[in-house]
Amino acid sequence: MKKFVLLESLVGLLLLAGNPAVAAEVHQHGLAEAAVVVEGQSLTVSFRAPLMDILGTEQPPVDAAARVRYEDRLKQVSEPQPSAQADCTLSHETRTGVAVLFPDSHQHDHDHEHHADVEAEWTFQCQSPDRLTDVTLTFLTTFSGLTTEVILLLPAGQGALRLAPGDTRIPLE
Ligand SMILES: [Zn+2]
Repeated sequence: MKKFVLLESLVGLLLLAGNPAVAAEVHQHGLAEAAVVVEGQSLTVSFRAPLMDILGTEQPPVDAAARVRYEDRLKQVSEPQPSAQADCTLSHETRTGVAVLFPDSHQHDHDHEHHADVEAEWTFQCQSPDRLTDVTLTFLTTFSGLTTEVILLLPAGQGALRLAPGDTRIPLE
């Protein structure tokens, strides 16, 4: 948990450095953040994007059918693909769901501009972490308008890179 807090602040710092006019808390539509952390045999990939870019709206779902559509869309933020030769297995996954984004009690608050983020995190256990050459965020093909700022915390050191819209592959070497 402590590590996660550190990551969050690193992401915030990176965004501030790139865009001093925008406070870290206010997201920018079209801009996502990701972090790749390799520590021992564990690989953690975290991702955060504005809800607008994932759902095409930040309005609450109008009915039960819309809630299902939203949930299906959120599930398309699917697990990344580490390079196969590292032999990684997904061990833990979290993703923001509709119930968290839009609690039932706020369903009728349609006019309220509701800036929110979708967050996901995946942890893999890798047999050969030294053979990790890249991680591919395949779902960025679906959300092809997003630019993604990526922070790397690797055994070899720290780094940062940017995936242009349509790019999916995060090189780790
Ligand atoms: Zn927004």
